[in-house]
Amino acid sequence: MFDFMDMSYDEPGEPVGSGPYIPDAGECMRCGICIASCPTFRLFQVDEETPRRRIRTISKLLVENLPISADERLHLDNCVQCRACETVCPSRMAYGQLFDQAQAELKVNPGWLAKLAFKLIENKGWLRRLMPLPAVYLKSGLQKPLRRSGLLKKLHLADAEALLGKPALQALAVSYPASTTKRGRVALFTGCIAEHFDRETLLAAIKLLNAIGYEVLVPPQQGCCGAIHQHNGQSAAGLIDNNIAVFNALDVDAVLHAATGCGAMLSEYQSDDGEAAQLFRQRLWDINDFLLKHWTDDLQLTSSKLKVAVHEPCSQRNVLKNQQAVYVLLQKIPGLSIAALTDNHICCGAGGSYMLTHPDNAAQLRALKQQIISASSADVVVSGNFGCAVYLNADGGRIEHPLQLLARQLPVR
Ligand code: SF4
Ligand code: SF4
Repeated sequence: MFDFMDMSYDEPGEPVGSGPYIPDAGECMRCGICIASCPTFRLFQVDEETPRRRIRTISKLLVENLPISADERLHLDNCVQCRACETVCPSRMAYGQLFDQAQAELKVNPGWLAKLAFKLIENKGWLRRLMPLPAVYLKSGLQKPLRRSGLLKKLHLADAEALLGKPALQALAVSYPASTTKRGRVALFTGCIAEHFDRETLLAAIKLLNAIGYEVLVPPQQGCCGAIHQHNGQSAAGLIDNNIAVFNALDVDAVLHAATGCGAMLSEYQSDDGEAAQLFRQRLWDINDFLLKHWTDDLQLTSSKLKVAVHEPCSQRNVLKNQQAVYVLLQKIPGLSIAALTDNHICCGAGGSYMLTHPDNAAQLRALKQQIISASSADVVVSGNFGCAVYLNADGGRIEHPLQLLARQLPVR
């Protein structure tokens, strides 16, 4: 049932206000301003699928210590965690933080498949040893018959299998020297699976950084950022503490992230060792911002006549809030035609692990995004988040990271 009449789905309001976010679910004014931003409201058009109602459920859990019904749980879990509501909320509710706390309070007990996935992304060594398996599978010709057999569906593996890309098997090098006069040294966050499944973006990042005079370190001891754990009610403390220790020990000018989903998580790292977490956050940069700040006038990219549409991942719009940097950086390519995708405020459905935990909802959101992409008549669509690109490309998309486009236009020296 609707408890207020403000249920229209128009353009959401512009980001509001400044100052700290309020981490108290009881402070929601129930004004409904967040509703227009919510992708699940767009899908279901009921009050139960609005941020306002989810905050109410979270308040029951965290403030009033009341049990929640199975129905309330279902609607809470349907949240894509895009945090669009947080961006427009005039009360500056800390929705992302509250959602994670609620998930932890609910003591989520993952199924065997989720447990296995958590273990694999915690253990990069295991992950690397297993990588030849998907590579062999993709080459074997078994993919089509296996899909047809229905076995993947029975094993609840069909959604994950549909996203499978060819993995890079070798580890990245530990250090990549500057390709021009050296100006400094940075460390690159590569996380868990991106090193295998988004190798092209990471190599593009390294090439660009080397071209502006930075040596790039890729510490092999680093691990998953912890976002998947934290957003699914699991503790990410071990992963967070490991990354803080690994990167803080390096003598570098900055720690850079190239995937906005990981970057959003890294930018909010907290730890029992508050000073260490603060040092980590102080040296953390989104790679787009870093490249813009340190670009040298003598580095001229080659021209391109491509028409590019920019997809703005939720993690970039609603957490990092630096989406403009992508447009400015792409303007370094002479002749490029650059435009924002329409309705960039609507999530593509990927939502970290949401595409696997809620495949039907995610597919509906993806279909909406694919319609927009088709209507854009762009030659290429760029997205700064690996998860969004994988999800959209699995449905016939043509998405790449903006760094790949930039690196291709580097002059041959
Ligand atoms: S979360 Fe914010 S925008 Fe949404 S109903 Fe509450 S106060 Fe209003
Ligand atoms: S995080 Fe996104 S999906 Fe979840 S309530 Fe907010 S706007 Fe809706």
